[in-house]
Amino acid sequence: MANNTQNLDKSLKLWERAENIIMNGTQLYSKMPSVSIKGVSPIYFVEGKGSKVIDLEGNKYIDYSMALGPCILGYANPEVNHAVKKQMAKGSIFSLPHPIEVEAAELLCKIIPCAEMVRFLKTGSEATNTAVRMARAYTGREKLIKGHYHGWHEWSICDTPKNGGIPKVLRNYVFTPNYNDYDAYEKIFRRHKGEIAAVIIEPIEFEPPRDRFLHRIKELAHRNNALLIFDEVVTGFRFGLGGAQEHFGVIPDIATFGKGMAGGLPLSCVVGRKKVIMGAKDKIFVSTTFGGDTLALRAFLTTIKIMQSHNVAKKIWDFGAELKEKTSRILKDAGIINNIRCVGLPPRLGFEFKDNQGKDSKELKTLFMQEVVKRKIFFVWNILPSFAHGGKDMAETIEAFKVSAQICRKALNENRLKDYLEGEMPITVV
Ligand code: PMP
Repeated sequence: MANNTQNLDKSLKLWERAENIIMNGTQLYSKMPSVSIKGVSPIYFVEGKGSKVIDLEGNKYIDYSMALGPCILGYANPEVNHAVKKQMAKGSIFSLPHPIEVEAAELLCKIIPCAEMVRFLKTGSEATNTAVRMARAYTGREKLIKGHYHGWHEWSICDTPKNGGIPKVLRNYVFTPNYNDYDAYEKIFRRHKGEIAAVIIEPIEFEPPRDRFLHRIKELAHRNNALLIFDEVVTGFRFGLGGAQEHFGVIPDIATFGKGMAGGLPLSCVVGRKKVIMGAKDKIFVSTTFGGDTLALRAFLTTIKIMQSHNVAKKIWDFGAELKEKTSRILKDAGIINNIRCVGLPPRLGFEFKDNQGKDSKELKTLFMQEVVKRKIFFVWNILPSFAHGGKDMAETIEAFKVSAQICRKALNENRLKDYLEGEMPITVV
């Protein structure tokens, strides 16, 4: 039975202190209480093991956000922890390069189809920023076609509501057509002939590519002497060891990876065709102190070893496929499939919420998420299955979804969604 009387006083007090002293209270927007259901959702996690996390109040949750992507093997994987501790005993970072940089780069070139050269960084934002700088330097052009979100830097955020502090002029250099809208891409290329340096997109978010969209965008970019960059910061490793590019059979010129690549440690990279990277490298400046940190690189090597020996990507696909199938069935059985839909491909699932008129419903989203989290299932935007999720997690999750769907059905029938809400509605950040 759900715990309706979750007491979050301790966490709320700590959050108040945090907001007073840390800008935004924390370091990632997706971790802010206002992005979940403030008053109901947990606010701080203090421990994680496998697929479970424990909040500051001591409640245990099955987590499907996996630190927003990084914990692809689950929390605190013992093999990764052991390898990192051994490396730590020898020193984490030095005043000269460490041989592990070469070993890790060679491994990436073996497993990622487009990787002929590599550059390591720390965050997804750094990787996408480097990729775009490479593309601009290589092509000698300045304009970009981009997708939904690629990080917090200027070209990625300049056309969003949170674009304070970014020169307005930059908005003239980026275009953000909708995924799958090939005609919109073509129009931009026509209107800005000879000016587009690259298309940077996530190969998939939730909506699958239609009519060979990714193949056609690659042809379109190349026909216009622009580059194709895949932002695989989320899809990387989880759609397969070779990323979504391998899954969809579309090999970009440059790709970026981060999040899951080092089993929870901070590491990202930009990889790509040698001709492009060699053509750009002397024209650009990319340099960062912690880029060669051996702990994350050791964690990366160990993570990939585990992924290879246990066929982790297949396990993630299978778990996600079963979860989507069972979730869709219980939503249908609850008579709510026209209101709540589980979307996306198995390694990255999400939900769409519609009212009885077919309009996006924030109230329904809030109610479903509220009932799910009360039953100790946690996720923010995406459901990102990991190697650690198993049959028991599946059964508990489906049961929680089932009861939550029935409550939503009742609230919709009574036309009283708002009356059922026990916390604040989540905000959308960008
Ligand atoms: N690209 C995509 C597709 C992302 O989802 C994110 C982060 N959520 C980033 C880039 C930026 O990564 P980071 O937060 O590590 O800078």
